[in-house]
This record gives sequence, C-alpha cells and structure tokens, in this order.
Amino acid sequence: LSVSELVDESYSRIGQVDGKVKAFLTLDEENARAAARKLDEQLGGDESRGLLFGLPAGIKDNIVTEGLTTTCASQFLRNFNPVYDATVVQKLKAAQSVTIGKLNMDEFAMGGSNENSSFHPTYNPWNPEHVPGGSSGGSAAAVAAGEVYFSLGSDTGGSIRQPAAYCGIVGMKPTYGLVSRFGLVAFASSLDQIGPLTKNVEDSAYVLQAIAGHDPQDSTSAKVDIPDYISSLTGDVKGLRIAVPKEYLGEGIDPQVKDAVLTALKVYESMGAIVEEVSMPHSEYAVATYYLLASSEASSNLARFDGVRYGVRAENPANLLDLYHKSRSQGFGPEVKRRIMLGTYALSSGYYDAYYLKAQKVRTLIKQDFDNVFKNYDVIIGPTTPTAAFKIGSQTSDPLTMYLNDILTIPVNLAGVPGISIPCGFADGMPVGLQIVGKPLDESTVLRAAHAYE
Ligand code: GLN
Repeated sequence: LSVSELVDESYSRIGQVDGKVKAFLTLDEENARAAARKLDEQLGGDESRGLLFGLPAGIKDNIVTEGLTTTCASQFLRNFNPVYDATVVQKLKAAQSVTIGKLNMDEFAMGGSNENSSFHPTYNPWNPEHVPGGSSGGSAAAVAAGEVYFSLGSDTGGSIRQPAAYCGIVGMKPTYGLVSRFGLVAFASSLDQIGPLTKNVEDSAYVLQAIAGHDPQDSTSAKVDIPDYISSLTGDVKGLRIAVPKEYLGEGIDPQVKDAVLTALKVYESMGAIVEEVSMPHSEYAVATYYLLASSEASSNLARFDGVRYGVRAENPANLLDLYHKSRSQGFGPEVKRRIMLGTYALSSGYYDAYYLKAQKVRTLIKQDFDNVFKNYDVIIGPTTPTAAFKIGSQTSDPLTMYLNDILTIPVNLAGVPGISIPCGFADGMPVGLQIVGKPLDESTVLRAAHAYE
C-alpha cells in the first residue's frame, strides 16, 4: 500500500461519513496529497522511515498549522492563518505522518460535548443522537469513524480522555510538561496538555513517542529523557499495584459504568495485579477548584484577542475601547464569555484571596492526595466519566451538569499527572471508558497497564 493510497482512503472515508459525523472544520487535501507523493518517492529508497511514516492524521483546531486555518471553533478566528507550525505539528512532520485536516472542538476548548463549537456540532459515530464528548470531540469522532488513523487533541480538564471514552477509543493526557504547548492556543496554561487519540494503546505509545520531548520554546516543558514507550508494552501486569479511589465509584456514577469498571478490575486481578480500595478525600473539591483556576487563566490568556492582533476586527468602531468591545462581543460565543467573566471576577482585587488563592491551596491538597496514593501504588484506576455519552441538547441549558461530566478527569490535570482512557464495555449501547492514572512522567507504566487489558 502506498502513502497516496492511504491518504486516498482517508479522504474517501471522509467523503462517505463526514456529512453525518461532521468531525472536520478544514481539509487540507492538496497539501496532504503532495506530502503523500513525496513520501511515496522515498518508499523505494533506503532512507530510513519516520516513526509514523505515511499515517493520515487529524489535528484539533486549537493547534496552529502554518498556512492552514486554525479557528479554535470560534468566530473570532474564523479567518486566522497561522504563520508557523506548533512544535507537535513539526514533530509529526518529522515522524512523516500526513495531516489530513483540522478537527472540530468546543470553542477555545471550553466544553465537553462539542456543542460549543461556533460552526456546528460533531455527532457521535456510534449514535448520531449522542454527543461525541469534548472539547476534542472532532478528534475522537474522526478516529472512531475511521476518517484518520490517529489525531491530536488537548486536555485541560478531560478534553482528550472524556471524548475518547464517549467514542470508544484510546485517549491519553501526558504528564504536564512532557509534550510542548508551543503553538497550542492557550486555554488554562497550567493545565493544558496535548496528547494522542488512537484506536488502540500501541498506536498511542507510537504517537506519544513522536510528540514528547523538551522544547526550548515552551518554558514549562520538562527537561527529561524520553523513554522507549513502545518497548514498555510487555503485556505483563503481575504484581502491579492498582489503587481504586472509593470517591471515584460513589454517588453519581451510572450503575452500568460502575459494573464495567469493576469487571475490568477483575480482569486485572486475574492477570496477577493487586487491586485495593483507597481514599482521595479532596476529590469532591476538584470541579470547583478547576473552574476557578481554569477560568482565571482563560480570562488572562484570552485578553490577547482584542480585534487588533488576531482574527476578526469589528467594523466602524468609535474608538479603541469600542474596537475591543465590539470585536470581543461579536467574536466570542456564550460559554467563552461566561468563563472570561468568572475568571475576571475571581482575579479582581478583593476577591483574589477568597477565590483564586484559595483554589490554588486546594489544588495543592488534591495533588497531595495523588502523592499519598502513589507512595504505595503504581496506578490509579476508575471510570473516565460518570456516564456514557449523553444526548445532544440534553445538557446545554445547564452548564453545571455539563461541568460535572469531568469530575473524574479534572483532578488528574490539577495534579499534572498522566492519564489514559481505554474502552471497557458499554452502557445502554454507548462505549464506557476506563481511566488509568500514573505517577508524574511514568507514562510507561500507564501504557503497559492499558495495553495489558486491551
Ligand atoms: N469540559 C472541561 C471544560 O469545559 C474541560 C475542557 C478541556 O479539557 N479543554 O473546561
């Protein structure tokens, strides 16, 4: 099979199903075909091939791509053409994958259903009445529907793992700092991480291998040697110590989801792993802490969208202030405005100590819950989400219910540790995700545990 044939297959699959799934915002067909032809010329020669040679990839639309529209699914950036590639995009090129196009998401990655895209929703390939999850919903749906071989997403509070769970695929959020954020449009800089969405764990290891590593362009990038993730997939979990937080299987968890997770834990036991219940007592504060911190950081990060530098500029402003006001009123959707207002409030003088500072302190307590468990255990396992994918429209009028879908993924971002979601069964015909969380920079153990179950 030539790369051109692979790329052909990807676009013809998109032609067949994307009218229904609507995972893509932009296709880059001409460039993809040119890149494929170039790789095909190399096929016969003896030049060594990249790790992801010829694989068709989709990129979430908040990761900048040179000359290829990058909208963050926002009207503000509907005509924004970046002048450079994000580090992860450069790394994919170096690994010789082929970028097929840019994928739909919740506007500026704020949301968990893709219903906050300002262009159109994406539909769950398993059942179009259901959401694909979010914010990387396009990234998950495109892989689940077979439109691309793998995709990249970003995860601030669950946005890779939750849509992976809802679409029945594998999604990994690496340790904070493992993958460069240079060229990722910032939502909450202390939480954001880029990671792979794939059909299986082995592919996840390959893509992570290609995108991980220190980047001088990102001051929060970790200066560490990258292990060989692929060779960590031994299939052996004998003696692996698994912690199951009782808070992760309590109130609000759908009984079918709980059953699927308990069954998976039995499988681990049968393979020789040690499964024990633990307590992570600060879990209940994670969602409140997250929405204070993430909104605060977002209100500061999104100040750069002023109508002058990027994207859309409002017409006929009376003066400079009016230009800011008009551009932002017209450019941002309702959820983004809500976050900016929440964050601005939490950061304003008089409230900073009561909200932002308090939330930072609780974040430390949540991180300590993880540190304590990891003194005695290798991984933490539970459901990725309390329920399977919900119906489109069923939560749009209730942002708080929507926020609670991330109750099990958010603590992992607050602690900065790695987490993966893998399929582990079904609830009412929709896929259920199993979340495996590891020690900082111990992606190898997370991947090994995930792979052994698969
Ligand atoms: N759903 C969460 C939110 O709306 C998480 C989003 C994300 O991880 N980008 O903030």
